[in-house]
Amino acid sequence: MKNKILVTGGAGYIGSHTCIALHQAGYDIVIYDNLSNSSREAINRVSKLICAPIEFIEGDIRDSDALRQVFAEHQFIGVIHFAGLKAVGESVAKPLMYYNNNVSGTITLLEVMAEYKVKNFVFSSSATVYGDPEILPIDENSPRSCTNPYGQSKLVVEHVLEDLAVSDSNWNLITLRYFNPVGAHASGQIGEDPNDIPNNLMPYISQVAVGKLAKLSIFGNDYPTVDGTGVRDFIHVTDLAAGHVAALKYLEQQTSNIGFMPINLGSGTGSSVLELVTAFAEVTGQNIPYQFAERRAGDIASCYASADKAQSLLGWQAQLSITDMCQDTWRWQSMNPNGYKV
Ligand code: NAD
Ligand code: UDP
Repeated sequence: MKNKILVTGGAGYIGSHTCIALHQAGYDIVIYDNLSNSSREAINRVSKLICAPIEFIEGDIRDSDALRQVFAEHQFIGVIHFAGLKAVGESVAKPLMYYNNNVSGTITLLEVMAEYKVKNFVFSSSATVYGDPEILPIDENSPRSCTNPYGQSKLVVEHVLEDLAVSDSNWNLITLRYFNPVGAHASGQIGEDPNDIPNNLMPYISQVAVGKLAKLSIFGNDYPTVDGTGVRDFIHVTDLAAGHVAALKYLEQQTSNIGFMPINLGSGTGSSVLELVTAFAEVTGQNIPYQFAERRAGDIASCYASADKAQSLLGWQAQLSITDMCQDTWRWQSMNPNGYKV
């Protein structure tokens, strides 16, 4: 196959949605995932949705021998690298685990890619690398700084990619900085499935809506924002998935190598926590009891993207609204109150 892509972490939340978009765009995919934060059921459901079998290899990105075997067996044109740990609080408690998984794991993957001369790479970075931004909307040239090990692990990988691009001009290293991914596939078959009590806002709201959690705590109502609650750039996971396809298409069109290229994937619009809660209640007809609580340590007041670079380079922009995000989250949550667990 001339268009085969390795998708690390493809069983996870964003990876599973992206696999559907890749298949629909005509790419052949191989998922490589250690299932540390996902399940085979997600892959089964993706397979049903695309009406095609999926090649899945259970493995760890830190296992160079296993990776070598995968690269020896397949001719990849590129790698989309979702595999990583993502819980900020856990990263503070277990920094070594986060650096080992996210940094060492990515370096091992890049080493094996270099051995097999596969040099097209799309990396899942995060708006967290911008720290507390001085200027909004945030563009790709904004200063970067992080305050927790999760964010640091993304920033360190970005620096690794920058150095790699300088060392060898054959690399194409697109670094997608996601803002706040939410929502689920419109079928209700796949979505975000947190292992424990959710840390993130949207899964918390939807678990309150379905009755698994009693009440949402809104962290802080004294920020300098429209209503005092934090402002974020929520982006539908289906739009995010389309952004990865657009990034691959962009790479295919280039006549020279692009080196390290960071691109924001956000809607370009900020919504407050309270606005999201209100929209969710309106769209779904569910009551969302909430209380105001202290600010959460490490949180910033406002964060939203300039999405101009994605628009001008990739021809990509977010299509789906807050209403779509709430509707699709609720469809997934209400059809699967226990996520992928039966
Ligand atoms: P997820 O946890 O649902 O998916 C990550 C997948 O990677 C999981 O299936 C997990 O089993 C796998 N994985 C983890 N470590 C691995 C390893 N060592 N070897 C092989 N597989 C491994 O997370 P997600 O929300 O889909 O996020 C995907 C990527 O995007 C992550 O790198 C995350 O840091 C980044 N990101 C996520 C968000 C977000 O809010 N969801 C925001 C910005 C960036
Ligand atoms: N938030 C909240 N209650 C929760 C979870 C999150 O008020 O139970 C707020 C949080 O303080 C922030 C926003 O929702 O202002 C988005 O938080 P999330 O953890 O989803 O993403 P972050 O922007 O921190 O990566």
